Parts: sequence; C-alpha cells; structure tokens
Amino acid sequence: MGITVKNLSVTGGDSKVVADVLRSLNVTVSDAADFDALEIFNDIIGTRITTRLKVTVAGEEIFLRKSSLARPDERLGAEVNRLVKKNLYTLLVEGFGLDAVPYGILHGVRPTKIIQRWIDGGFGVTSQGVIDRDKIARRVCSDFTTDRDKADLLTEVAVRQLPIIRASDAHTVSVYVGIPFCRTRCLYCSFPSFVLPAEAKVAEFMQTLTRDITAAADAINRFGLKVQTIYVGGGTPSALPEKFFAEMLRIVHDSFNGSEVDEFTVECGRPDTITAEKISAMKSFDVTRVSVNPQTMNQRTLDLIGRQHSVEDVARAFDELRAAGDWLINTDLIVGLPGERLDDFRETLDKVLTLNPDDVTIHSLAIKRGSKLQMRLADDLNRLEDFNLPEDAEVRRMSEHASKILRGKNFLPYYLYRQGYMRGQIENVGWCRRGAAGIYNVQIMGERQTIIGVGAAASTKVPDPASKKILTAFNAKDLPTYLRDIDKYIARREKILAQNNFQ
Ligand code: SF4
Repeated sequence: MGITVKNLSVTGGDSKVVADVLRSLNVTVSDAADFDALEIFNDIIGTRITTRLKVTVAGEEIFLRKSSLARPDERLGAEVNRLVKKNLYTLLVEGFGLDAVPYGILHGVRPTKIIQRWIDGGFGVTSQGVIDRDKIARRVCSDFTTDRDKADLLTEVAVRQLPIIRASDAHTVSVYVGIPFCRTRCLYCSFPSFVLPAEAKVAEFMQTLTRDITAAADAINRFGLKVQTIYVGGGTPSALPEKFFAEMLRIVHDSFNGSEVDEFTVECGRPDTITAEKISAMKSFDVTRVSVNPQTMNQRTLDLIGRQHSVEDVARAFDELRAAGDWLINTDLIVGLPGERLDDFRETLDKVLTLNPDDVTIHSLAIKRGSKLQMRLADDLNRLEDFNLPEDAEVRRMSEHASKILRGKNFLPYYLYRQGYMRGQIENVGWCRRGAAGIYNVQIMGERQTIIGVGAAASTKVPDPASKKILTAFNAKDLPTYLRDIDKYIARREKILAQNNFQ
C-alpha cells in the first residue's frame, strides 16, 4: 500500500536519496490525494541527522520526527545519506502503516560490496579470522532496515565471492565485448540493442570493433596486464550471421589470449540464433561458458515478449551444446513477466532444470526507461493491469520458490545485484552448481578488478587504488556514434588506463 500527496516539499538532504525512499514506498504526487501536503525537513548538524515530517490532511497538521547518529567508522557523507533514508523510511512505515520492502533502504545496485568492505575493515571477522555471518547480517538489518532473510542472502553471497575477488591482483583484468544486435527487441528490453541490420552495416561494425579490440589488446600488453576472463555480451552476440560470428570470436580469441584465460563466455541468449556452425566456432576458439536465456518456458509469454523462438528451441540448443562440448551452460529466467503467476514460473523452472544447466540466474522484471513496456505504460503505473503483471507479493513468492528449489538441487547463490523499478523490489541472483561460478559475474559486481570494455555500449572500469575511486570510460550506446567516434572512445579508455598506470 502506498499514499498519494497533493503537494510534496523537501528541505535538506540529497533529493535523489529522498526520492529513492518515496519511490520504494510508493509515495506519489497526485491531485486525487490522500494528503494535502507532505513536507519533509532534514536537519544535518554534525553527526546528528534529524528528519521531521509535516503532514496536512483536511486542514489538520500532523508532525513526526526522528533523529539518528552517524556511525563513527563510516564516511560522513555516506552516513548522512543513509540516515536521511533510514529516518524517512521508518517514519513513513511506522507513522503511516506503509508496507515495508524487503531491502529497506538498501537501494544500490551492488549491496554485497558494502559487506565485503566491512569484512576488509575487520568487521565481523573474529581474531581467528573466521567470518561471523550472523553479526554481519544483524548489522545489515540494523543499518538498512533490511529483512533478515535478505540480509542472510547478501552475507552468504558476499562471503562466497571473497576467494574469487581476492585472487585477482592489480594486473589481472577482464575483457567485455559488446555486440549490440538482436533479432527482435523484447518487450522489457532496456539494453542498447539494435535489430540486426543489413550485411554492409554489420561489416562496418566488425571493422570498427576490430580497431577497438586491437587498441585494447595493445594497451593490455603495454601495461603488462593479464586477462583472466573474456565475456562476449550484448545484445545477442549469436545474432551475428555465421561468418561474422566466427570472425568476431577469432579476433577476440587471438587478441586476448583466449586459450589461456580462466573463462571465456559467450552469450547466445536467444536459442534460435544457435546453429551447428556457431557451436563449432565456439569450440574452435576455446569458449568455456555459453548462456542460453529463454527467460520463460511458457510459449504464450515468449510470444508476448517478442521472442521468435519456441520452448522446444531451448531444449534443442541445450542438447546441441551439450553434445558438442563440456562447457558450462548458463541460463537466465525472469520472475514477474506479464500474464505469469507462481504456477507458470514453477513450470518454467521445472522445465529448465530438466535441461541440467550449470548456472541459473533469476531476474526480477524491471520496467526500465527505454523499454517498449515502459513506453507503453507511459509512466502510468496504474495501467499495469493492461499487461496483467503479477503483484509484488506474487513476484516475491516466485523468487522464494526459485530459492527453495535451487537450494534443494544443490545450487548456491553466488552473485547478486539490484536494479531500479524491479517488480517485487527484490533482486537478481545467480545460482550455480558448486565450482561453476561465473568468474566474470563476480568480478563485474565486485568492482575491484579492471574491466576493459570493447564494442558498442561497453564500459571500461578501472579501480584506482590511490583515490579508491573507479575510473570509467563508456563507449557510445548508439551504433552510429560508436562507428563514427571510435577513436575518441579508444583515447578515453587509454587515458584512464594510463591514469591508473598499474604500478
Ligand atoms: S535478447 Fe536481451 S538484449 Fe536482445 S532484445 Fe531481448 S532483452 Fe534485449
């Protein structure tokens, strides 16, 4: 349950921080409102943060107030934001009976990083070096008003990732290759992805990509870096026609030492793009991990979201991949798709598990800007019923069902991230069989390893040990700009790599 207010005003505190809390609790501004006015005042005096609410309803004024003190062991700026959020969230949930949300005020994309930072600082680590998960989970609940089961999940994932994160040093990097093409655009897609253009345009993209890759490989050699993982994503890389797909893999393999890396992943998201020739190319170029991402095994939903493949195509792709090699197979599913309920998802998960994947990532549908779904809703979430989307509570039941079944089949949660506008306000979790964790998935979430991005919409991220900041350079998301300005993007990447200097 949310509330509507006719007039909203905020004084003090970061407006984005306040907006995050209001959005998560479904507080909206509307003429047909529950309250005439909601005024929020955040007073920040030293380490004490006080939030006051003044609510006007039918001419009457109601005042609520909450104060909190910053933790001394955290950066004050971050603490101010956290406490503004926590005060406001607590006042709205306790004062107005709004529904608490599973992650409370934990709104960031990579919540496990916070726990890893605490552990690095010695919090929750005994004098014998044992990690006290209960102590960490209790702090997550207390600092972020997070549900205990979510705090336990975050702690489990954060701790499980540590050996992978710590095994990487300053000279170890991963490479991301962005292939921005798909056969059609899915209803919910907000990725920079273009319907596969005519051959001449694809050839032009390949030329530009080759320049981009050559420059990146040159920088890797110059700075004495070692590539740990390669991840070819998009888009759907396997949407490339056969000759381009094989050529792209050859260039990537030869430029980044593909036979020596710990992991070489190729996303073949749409099963109808997987052919015998492409499987053979992946074998030749030492690919170790392939993603087949049906999202659902319900044919009606596949048709609705704009896929052009059948449920049987998914099974065929798995069979052909399994017959061809001993690589690991990832698969992505989404909870909260239009028209689906728990029983539909139950069936999807059962069907996918019969295919014996090594890694299953359960996403929650996010209605993101730029997606056809969001545009059709035109920002009016009251029209959600047009798409027959499941309620948040149902989406959470789907996710709980996935956790129960996957744990029962000995899958372990190993990476987790959150997005804005997620149905159910839950999370995306990657589950793997023991020993089958995707190293790249951990590194990209951990943000401690340098990731070198090539291709359209790829980003390069370089953690700078001196400033503790992450230096970033982004390639253009739109294809024409990427093709036109490739030299500019190469130069930007060079600049941040040189800034770190890898000493
Ligand atoms: S397959 Fe993925 S990248 Fe392509 S349109 Fe669908 S969601 Fe977007």
